[in-house]
Amino acid sequence: MSNWPAISDIAKQVKSGKLKASDLVETALKNLEAKQEYQTVIEITAERARERASKSDALVAQGGEAGRLAGVPFIAKDNFLAYGAKTTASSNILKPFEAPYQATAIERLEAEGAILIAKSNLDAFAHGSSTENSDFFVTKNPHDKTRVPGGSSGGSAAAVALDIVPFALGTDTGGSIRQPAGFCGVVGYKPTYGLVSRSGVIAMASSTDVIGPITRNLDDTAAILDIIAGRDELDSTTIEKDSKGYQLSTSSYQLNAAKIGIIREYMAEGLELGVKQVIDGAVNKLKSAGAEISEVSLPSLPLALAVYYIVCPAEVSSNLARYDGQRYGYSEQSATDLLSSYELSREKGFGAEAKRRIMIGTYVLSSGYYDAYYKKAQTVRTKIISEFADAFEKYDVLVGPTSPTTAFKIGEKVNDPLSMYLSDIMTVAANMSGNPAISIPAGLSSELPVGLQLIGPMKGDRKLLEITKACEELL
Ligand code: GLN
Repeated sequence: MSNWPAISDIAKQVKSGKLKASDLVETALKNLEAKQEYQTVIEITAERARERASKSDALVAQGGEAGRLAGVPFIAKDNFLAYGAKTTASSNILKPFEAPYQATAIERLEAEGAILIAKSNLDAFAHGSSTENSDFFVTKNPHDKTRVPGGSSGGSAAAVALDIVPFALGTDTGGSIRQPAGFCGVVGYKPTYGLVSRSGVIAMASSTDVIGPITRNLDDTAAILDIIAGRDELDSTTIEKDSKGYQLSTSSYQLNAAKIGIIREYMAEGLELGVKQVIDGAVNKLKSAGAEISEVSLPSLPLALAVYYIVCPAEVSSNLARYDGQRYGYSEQSATDLLSSYELSREKGFGAEAKRRIMIGTYVLSSGYYDAYYKKAQTVRTKIISEFADAFEKYDVLVGPTSPTTAFKIGEKVNDPLSMYLSDIMTVAANMSGNPAISIPAGLSSELPVGLQLIGPMKGDRKLLEITKACEELL
């Protein structure tokens, strides 16, 4: 499906005057229209995009520096605050909301000349694994329109898989970049927690929220990460980027120097046979390329999902408290006093999944149950962190599937929250620990993409990308 050149080539050609940013924006907008039936985006930022493109073209004509991403069109998940359109997080309660400032990640991309053309669909507030929890509409999987694209960054992943734009931004709180990337057959990267500023991104669970790119290949992932990563005074949890940056030189990593651990707990029961075969096939290729591969066990991993669905709703319930109908977003006009305004605005503005998480979250944080649930979950979380740290004493990266299945049918799990939650079983642990992790296309099972997940050591983003690049070349 791929027509866009590599991101760095696009920028080079724009800077040399061979390509015009304005034409690239028109191409991306036309692509959007041609692929409308997949419903990848909520709003198009055409006017602002065209303005920015003509400014960029004028700058190039005057011999100015148009940036490392000159003229490169992109899409951001609609939980990024951005100019040019409303910022809704696919939730009715934010339907009228216009961002007063932009997310740091978007600012950094724009400073290098990238051009935002649209805001993509997501599960409302990023709660979900299929994009079916969007309050607006369901995005369709590019490989099979009757299936989900995954979630919650389903719109971004589908847009890249459809080649509407060369890259998109997503957020990953429990797997929302990697899982849809796996389902749509593209590359999805979740950096180390804190490597990319969360400023201007609508909070889901603040201790696990991470921002990252969805692309078609590793070079593009590295090019985008290199620009958005690093300290930001607007987010005190941010960390310095690697002193070498993240741009990958050709063959900077040899697989025969790599020690790779296959996560036993992820290759166990519940894994779809077709997925297992693709992952086994990929692992065999890595072996024949000389990688040193052995099985590794992280015994607490099977608990990660339960831990996540305590910690995450706890933080969600706190982060969603600000939507009270008074400060921004939807406010119910029939309310007669302040309390009924809070109640009615929240009742009408939030969808079922947000309400479910608020209820679970406030329950596990309540004085009677805090010790039994929240505190215990945090204890197990610490255990997961130390098991990962131990494993990285011996291994460079850990691998396994991104998801236990390929993309499921639209409607299949939407009324069964527990089975929906199970689709995150292999992604949540890296969010609980903060480790960087990536999903790359590993092959097809019954014509649907299977994602190979690689997890790296804390702050080892560069190493993870280098090894993954070597894997990409092989697969
Ligand atoms: N699917 C997971 C959830 O519903 C993860 C969501 C995310 O990463 N934003 O919580």
